[in-house]
Amino acid sequence: GHAFGPNPSPRIVMMGLRRGGKSSICQVMFHNMQPLDTLYIESTTAPTTSVFSSFIDFAVMELPGQINFTEAMIDAERIFSSCGALIYVIDSQDEYINSLANLHSIILHAVNANPNINIEVFIHKVDGLSEDFRLDAQRDITQRVTDELLDDGLVNVSISFHLTSIFDHSIYEAFSRVVQKLVPQLATLENLLNVLCQHSGIEKAFLFDIGSKIFVATDSSPMDIPTYEICTDFIDITVDMNNLYAADRRPKPVTRSDANANNGTANITNRLESLPQGRPIGSTSRLSNGVILYLQQMVKGLALVCLMRKESMPNIALVEYNIEFFRDALEQLWLIG
Ligand code: GDP
Repeated sequence: GHAFGPNPSPRIVMMGLRRGGKSSICQVMFHNMQPLDTLYIESTTAPTTSVFSSFIDFAVMELPGQINFTEAMIDAERIFSSCGALIYVIDSQDEYINSLANLHSIILHAVNANPNINIEVFIHKVDGLSEDFRLDAQRDITQRVTDELLDDGLVNVSISFHLTSIFDHSIYEAFSRVVQKLVPQLATLENLLNVLCQHSGIEKAFLFDIGSKIFVATDSSPMDIPTYEICTDFIDITVDMNNLYAADRRPKPVTRSDANANNGTANITNRLESLPQGRPIGSTSRLSNGVILYLQQMVKGLALVCLMRKESMPNIALVEYNIEFFRDALEQLWLIG
C-alpha cells in the first residue's frame, strides 16, 4: 500500500502478551490520554481494531497476547499479508521469557505470510529501568531473538528493537521510525525539507502528523530529543489554543468513564476532528532564548514545524514564501502518490 493518496495505506499490527501496554500505547498516541490514566483502562481481551485516520491512515490492530496459538492466529496470518509492520510489545519490567517465545512464533507466522513485513520490537515500560538495565535488556533481547531466527535459517527478516515508554517521548519517536519506513516518498520528503532549510535559514524542520505527533520526515541535520520535544509541545499548544477559540466545535472534555468506554472499541476520536474544517492551523512563537518556532498545517493532517534563530533567519516573508513552495511540492507528491 501507499502512505499517500486515496488508497488504503500501510497497516500496522500491534501484538504482545496481556498487560504489556498495547492499549495504553494506543490510548496515549491516538486518543491523547494522559499516561497515568492508563492505569485504569481494561486490558485487551479480544482482538480490537482502531483505525487511526489522518495523513498516514493506518489501522492499529491489537491482538491479545497468548502463548499458544488459537483461531486468532489464523486470522492474523491473513492480516500480516496486507500489513507493512508488526509491532510487538514486550514488558521489560516483567519476566520476558514467555514474551520471547510468543514473539518467535509470531515472527514465523508473519514472515511466512509476508516476507517483506517489518518486525518492530518495542521493549516497553523502560521508565522503570535504570540506564544500564535498559541497555542490558536491549542487548539480551536482541541477542536471543536474532539467535533464534538464525537457528531457523531466517537471515533476511527485517527486525528492529526500540526502547519505549508512554511516560516520555520515546514512544512517539519509536512510532515515527516505524511509520517512516512505510512512507515510500521518504527520501523525496527529506530532500524537500533540506532545500527548505537551506534557503530559509531554518535550523531544523519536521513534518508532523498533527493528530498523533508522529513525525513523518525531518531534514538531515542532526536531531536531538529536546528539539523534538519543543516541537511536539508546540503542536499541543497550537491545537489547544485553536480548539479553545473554535466556539462552534468545542471538543468534549474526556472523562475517565469516556476513556474506559472508548477502550477497545473502534471508536475514533482524535483531536484533529475537533479542528474546524478547511481552516489550516498555524502559529509562530518567539522564545526568550531567541529561538523562533513556526507551525503551519500543510496538506491533510500534516504540519510543518520549524525551529529558527533570529540571527540566521533572513526574514519571515521569505521563509513563508519558501514554505508556500514546499506546500505546493507536497501537494504534487500527494497527487502522484
Ligand atoms: P495490554 O493488555 O497490552 O493492552 O496492556 P495495558 O495497556 O492494559 O497496560 C497494562 C498496564 O501497564 C497498565 O497498568 C498501564 O498503565 C501500564 N503501562 C503501559 N505502558 C507503560 C509504560 O510505558 N510504563 C509503565 N511504567 N507502565 C506502563
